[in-house]
Amino acid sequence: MHLKPVIAANWKLNHTPTDARAFLQRFLPQCPRLNERTVVFFPSALTYATVAEGLRERPEIWLGVQNVHSEAQGAYTGENSVLMARDCGARVVLVGHSERRHVFGETDEQTTRKMALIAQARLTPMLCVGETLAEREAGNTAAVVERQLTAGLAELDDAQIATIMLAYEPVWAIGTGRTATPEDASEIHGVLRAALVSRVGEKVGAGIPILYGGSVNRGNASQLLAAADVDGLLVGGASLDADSWASIVRA
Ligand code: PEP
Repeated sequence: MHLKPVIAANWKLNHTPTDARAFLQRFLPQCPRLNERTVVFFPSALTYATVAEGLRERPEIWLGVQNVHSEAQGAYTGENSVLMARDCGARVVLVGHSERRHVFGETDEQTTRKMALIAQARLTPMLCVGETLAEREAGNTAAVVERQLTAGLAELDDAQIATIMLAYEPVWAIGTGRTATPEDASEIHGVLRAALVSRVGEKVGAGIPILYGGSVNRGNASQLLAAADVDGLLVGGASLDADSWASIVRA
Protein backbone atom coordinates (compact mmCIF):
# COMPACT_ATOMS: atom_id res chain seq x y z
CA MET A 1 0.00 0.00 0.00
CA HIS A 2 1.30 3.45 -0.97
CA LEU A 3 0.60 5.82 1.92
CA LYS A 4 2.69 8.89 1.15
CA PRO A 5 1.24 11.55 -1.15
CA VAL A 6 2.69 11.26 -4.65
CA ILE A 7 3.70 14.61 -6.17
CA ALA A 8 4.68 14.25 -9.82
CA ALA A 9 6.14 16.74 -12.31
CA ASN A 10 5.28 16.23 -15.98
CA TRP A 11 7.71 18.38 -17.91
CA LYS A 12 6.18 17.49 -21.31
CA LEU A 13 8.23 18.98 -24.18
CA ASN A 14 10.07 21.42 -21.91
CA HIS A 15 13.52 21.65 -20.28
CA THR A 16 16.66 20.79 -22.21
CA PRO A 17 19.43 18.99 -20.30
CA THR A 18 21.02 22.39 -19.63
CA ASP A 19 17.72 23.73 -18.24
CA ALA A 20 17.32 20.61 -16.10
CA ARG A 21 20.76 21.03 -14.50
CA ALA A 22 19.94 24.64 -13.56
CA PHE A 23 16.50 23.57 -12.29
CA LEU A 24 17.91 20.88 -9.98
CA GLN A 25 20.59 23.22 -8.64
CA ARG A 26 17.87 25.57 -7.50
CA PHE A 27 15.23 23.00 -6.49
CA LEU A 28 17.20 20.41 -4.50
CA PRO A 29 18.49 22.70 -1.72
CA GLN A 30 14.90 23.88 -1.13
CA CYS A 31 13.75 20.30 -0.50
CA PRO A 32 16.67 18.65 1.32
CA ARG A 33 14.79 15.59 2.62
CA LEU A 34 11.69 14.25 0.96
CA ASN A 35 10.64 11.44 3.27
CA GLU A 36 7.00 12.46 3.64
CA ARG A 37 6.27 12.54 -0.09
CA THR A 38 6.98 10.39 -3.11
CA VAL A 39 8.26 12.95 -5.60
CA VAL A 40 8.42 11.89 -9.24
CA PHE A 41 9.95 13.66 -12.24
CA PHE A 42 8.83 12.90 -15.79
CA PRO A 43 11.43 14.65 -18.00
CA SER A 44 11.57 14.16 -21.76
CA ALA A 45 13.48 11.08 -22.94
CA LEU A 46 16.42 13.23 -24.08
CA THR A 47 16.64 15.10 -20.77
CA TYR A 48 16.18 11.94 -18.69
CA ALA A 49 19.88 11.03 -18.26
CA THR A 50 20.76 14.52 -17.05
CA VAL A 51 18.02 14.43 -14.42
CA ALA A 52 19.10 10.94 -13.33
CA GLU A 53 22.66 12.17 -12.92
CA GLY A 54 21.47 15.22 -10.96
CA LEU A 55 19.44 13.01 -8.60
CA ARG A 56 22.21 10.46 -7.99
CA GLU A 57 22.53 11.53 -4.34
CA ARG A 58 18.75 11.67 -3.87
CA PRO A 59 17.50 8.11 -4.31
CA GLU A 60 14.22 8.93 -2.55
CA ILE A 61 13.15 10.91 -5.64
CA TRP A 62 11.64 8.77 -8.38
CA LEU A 63 12.17 9.15 -12.09
CA GLY A 64 9.70 8.27 -14.78
CA VAL A 65 9.15 8.54 -18.52
CA GLN A 66 6.27 10.30 -20.24
CA ASN A 67 5.43 7.55 -22.71
CA VAL A 68 6.53 4.19 -24.09
CA HIS A 69 5.55 2.44 -27.28
CA SER A 70 2.81 -0.21 -27.20
CA GLU A 71 5.18 -2.87 -28.56
CA ALA A 72 8.21 -4.05 -26.61
CA GLN A 73 10.61 -3.60 -29.54
CA GLY A 74 10.81 -3.52 -33.32
CA ALA A 75 10.78 -1.22 -36.34
CA TYR A 76 9.16 1.84 -34.72
CA THR A 77 11.41 4.76 -35.57
CA GLY A 78 11.37 7.54 -33.02
CA GLU A 79 9.76 5.57 -30.20
CA ASN A 80 11.04 4.51 -26.75
CA SER A 81 10.38 1.11 -25.16
CA VAL A 82 9.52 0.02 -21.67
CA LEU A 83 12.71 -2.07 -21.51
CA MET A 84 14.77 1.03 -22.34
CA ALA A 85 12.94 2.93 -19.60
CA ARG A 86 13.63 0.16 -17.09
CA ASP A 87 17.28 -0.11 -18.11
CA CYS A 88 17.68 3.66 -17.53
CA GLY A 89 16.36 3.26 -13.98
CA ALA A 90 12.85 4.65 -14.53
CA ARG A 91 10.33 3.46 -11.94
CA VAL A 92 7.12 4.94 -13.35
CA VAL A 93 5.64 5.35 -16.83
CA LEU A 94 2.79 7.72 -17.72
CA VAL A 95 0.08 6.04 -19.79
CA GLY A 96 -2.84 7.65 -21.58
CA HIS A 97 -1.99 11.26 -20.75
CA SER A 98 -4.65 13.49 -22.28
CA GLU A 99 -2.13 14.89 -24.77
CA ARG A 100 -1.31 11.34 -25.89
CA ARG A 101 -5.02 10.61 -26.30
CA HIS A 102 -6.19 13.91 -27.80
CA VAL A 103 -3.14 15.24 -29.67
CA PHE A 104 -1.60 11.94 -30.80
CA GLY A 105 -4.79 9.88 -31.07
CA GLU A 106 -3.83 7.19 -28.55
CA THR A 107 -6.67 4.68 -28.23
CA ASP A 108 -7.99 2.70 -25.26
CA GLU A 109 -6.57 -0.43 -26.96
CA GLN A 110 -3.09 1.10 -26.94
CA THR A 111 -3.37 2.00 -23.26
CA THR A 112 -4.42 -1.60 -22.54
CA ARG A 113 -1.30 -2.90 -24.26
CA LYS A 114 1.04 -0.35 -22.67
CA MET A 115 -0.29 -1.05 -19.18
CA ALA A 116 0.34 -4.78 -19.67
CA LEU A 117 3.90 -4.26 -20.98
CA ILE A 118 4.78 -1.88 -18.15
CA ALA A 119 3.37 -4.18 -15.48
CA GLN A 120 5.22 -7.17 -16.99
CA ALA A 121 8.44 -5.14 -16.83
CA ARG A 122 7.67 -4.55 -13.13
CA LEU A 123 7.54 -0.79 -13.48
CA THR A 124 4.69 1.32 -12.09
CA PRO A 125 2.23 2.51 -14.73
CA MET A 126 0.53 5.82 -13.90
CA LEU A 127 -2.70 5.65 -15.89
CA CYS A 128 -4.24 9.04 -16.71
CA VAL A 129 -7.99 9.31 -17.22
CA GLY A 130 -10.22 12.31 -17.75
CA GLU A 131 -13.16 13.73 -19.61
CA THR A 132 -13.35 16.52 -22.18
CA LEU A 133 -15.51 19.57 -21.51
CA ALA A 134 -18.18 18.25 -23.91
CA GLU A 135 -18.23 14.91 -22.09
CA ARG A 136 -18.57 16.69 -18.72
CA GLU A 137 -21.36 18.94 -19.97
CA ALA A 138 -23.19 15.91 -21.34
CA GLY A 139 -23.06 14.32 -17.87
CA ASN A 140 -20.72 11.56 -19.02
CA THR A 141 -17.71 12.14 -16.77
CA ALA A 142 -18.09 9.00 -14.64
CA ALA A 143 -18.78 6.80 -17.68
CA VAL A 144 -15.73 8.13 -19.54
CA VAL A 145 -13.25 7.66 -16.70
CA GLU A 146 -14.67 4.23 -15.89
CA ARG A 147 -14.27 3.20 -19.53
CA GLN A 148 -10.67 4.44 -19.62
CA LEU A 149 -9.92 2.67 -16.33
CA THR A 150 -11.46 -0.59 -17.51
CA ALA A 151 -9.34 -0.48 -20.67
CA GLY A 152 -6.19 0.28 -18.68
CA LEU A 153 -6.74 -2.67 -16.36
CA ALA A 154 -8.00 -5.10 -18.99
CA GLU A 155 -4.88 -7.27 -19.21
CA LEU A 156 -3.63 -6.91 -15.63
CA ASP A 157 -4.07 -9.47 -12.87
CA ASP A 158 -4.86 -8.40 -9.30
CA ALA A 159 -1.21 -8.46 -8.21
CA GLN A 160 -0.28 -6.17 -11.10
CA ILE A 161 -3.19 -3.82 -10.39
CA ALA A 162 -1.87 -3.46 -6.83
CA THR A 163 1.25 -1.77 -8.27
CA ILE A 164 -0.40 0.91 -10.42
CA MET A 165 -1.07 4.59 -9.83
CA LEU A 166 -3.98 6.54 -11.32
CA ALA A 167 -4.25 10.21 -12.23
CA TYR A 168 -7.60 11.92 -12.75
CA GLU A 169 -6.93 14.77 -15.16
CA PRO A 170 -10.00 16.49 -16.61
CA VAL A 171 -8.97 17.48 -20.15
CA TRP A 172 -10.59 20.92 -19.77
CA ALA A 173 -8.34 21.65 -16.78
CA ILE A 174 -4.98 20.71 -18.30
CA GLY A 175 -2.85 23.73 -19.14
CA THR A 176 -5.92 25.98 -19.15
CA GLY A 177 -5.70 27.65 -15.74
CA ARG A 178 -9.12 26.13 -14.94
CA THR A 179 -8.91 23.73 -12.00
CA ALA A 180 -11.50 21.25 -10.81
CA THR A 181 -12.78 22.23 -7.36
CA PRO A 182 -11.62 19.95 -4.54
CA GLU A 183 -15.24 18.70 -4.37
CA ASP A 184 -15.31 17.87 -8.11
CA ALA A 185 -11.98 16.08 -7.82
CA SER A 186 -13.15 14.12 -4.75
CA GLU A 187 -16.34 13.06 -6.50
CA ILE A 188 -14.53 11.55 -9.47
CA HIS A 189 -11.76 10.09 -7.31
CA GLY A 190 -14.57 8.38 -5.39
CA VAL A 191 -15.94 6.93 -8.64
CA LEU A 192 -12.47 5.62 -9.53
CA ARG A 193 -11.91 4.24 -6.02
CA ALA A 194 -15.23 2.38 -6.16
CA ALA A 195 -14.35 0.91 -9.57
CA LEU A 196 -10.95 -0.23 -8.27
CA VAL A 197 -12.48 -1.78 -5.17
CA SER A 198 -15.08 -3.63 -7.19
CA ARG A 199 -12.32 -5.01 -9.44
CA VAL A 200 -9.70 -6.00 -6.84
CA GLY A 201 -11.39 -5.73 -3.44
CA GLU A 202 -11.18 -3.22 -0.61
CA LYS A 203 -7.69 -4.04 0.65
CA VAL A 204 -5.87 -3.56 -2.66
CA GLY A 205 -8.26 -0.98 -4.12
CA ALA A 206 -7.90 1.35 -1.13
CA GLY A 207 -4.10 1.39 -1.45
CA ILE A 208 -3.84 2.54 -5.07
CA PRO A 209 -2.83 6.23 -5.19
CA ILE A 210 -5.20 8.44 -7.20
CA LEU A 211 -3.57 11.74 -8.15
CA TYR A 212 -5.35 14.86 -9.36
CA GLY A 213 -3.94 16.84 -12.28
CA GLY A 214 -5.07 19.94 -14.15
CA SER A 215 -3.72 23.47 -13.55
CA VAL A 216 -2.39 22.68 -10.09
CA ASN A 217 -0.22 25.53 -8.80
CA ARG A 218 1.38 26.69 -5.57
CA GLY A 219 -1.84 28.52 -4.65
CA ASN A 220 -4.25 25.59 -4.93
CA ALA A 221 -2.03 22.55 -4.25
CA SER A 222 -2.67 22.26 -0.48
CA GLN A 223 -6.43 22.52 -0.86
CA LEU A 224 -6.55 19.89 -3.59
CA LEU A 225 -4.25 17.58 -1.67
CA ALA A 226 -6.48 17.87 1.38
CA ALA A 227 -9.59 16.75 -0.57
CA ALA A 228 -11.04 13.32 0.15
CA ASP A 229 -9.52 10.51 -1.91
CA VAL A 230 -6.87 12.79 -3.47
CA ASP A 231 -3.59 10.96 -2.84
CA GLY A 232 -1.27 13.17 -4.84
CA LEU A 233 -0.86 15.69 -7.63
CA LEU A 234 0.32 15.48 -11.24
CA VAL A 235 1.59 18.88 -12.29
CA GLY A 236 2.56 20.23 -15.70
CA GLY A 237 3.12 23.99 -16.11
CA ALA A 238 3.73 24.77 -12.44
CA SER A 239 6.44 22.11 -12.20
CA LEU A 240 8.67 23.91 -14.70
CA ASP A 241 9.85 26.63 -12.33
CA ALA A 242 12.07 25.33 -9.50
CA ASP A 243 10.66 27.68 -6.84
CA SER A 244 7.05 26.99 -7.75
CA TRP A 245 7.70 23.25 -7.85
CA ALA A 246 9.47 23.35 -4.47
CA SER A 247 6.46 25.01 -2.85
CA ILE A 248 4.07 22.44 -4.38
CA VAL A 249 6.26 19.58 -3.16
CA ARG A 250 6.16 21.09 0.35
CA ALA A 251 2.38 21.76 0.19
C1 PEP B 1 -0.36 17.50 -17.00
O1 PEP B 1 0.33 17.67 -17.98
O2 PEP B 1 -0.50 16.36 -16.57
C2 PEP B 1 -0.98 18.67 -16.38
C3 PEP B 1 -1.82 18.47 -15.39
O3 PEP B 1 -0.65 19.92 -16.86
P1 PEP B 1 -0.98 21.35 -16.17
O4 PEP B 1 -0.59 21.23 -14.72
O5 PEP B 1 -0.14 22.34 -16.91
O6 PEP B 1 -2.45 21.59 -16.32
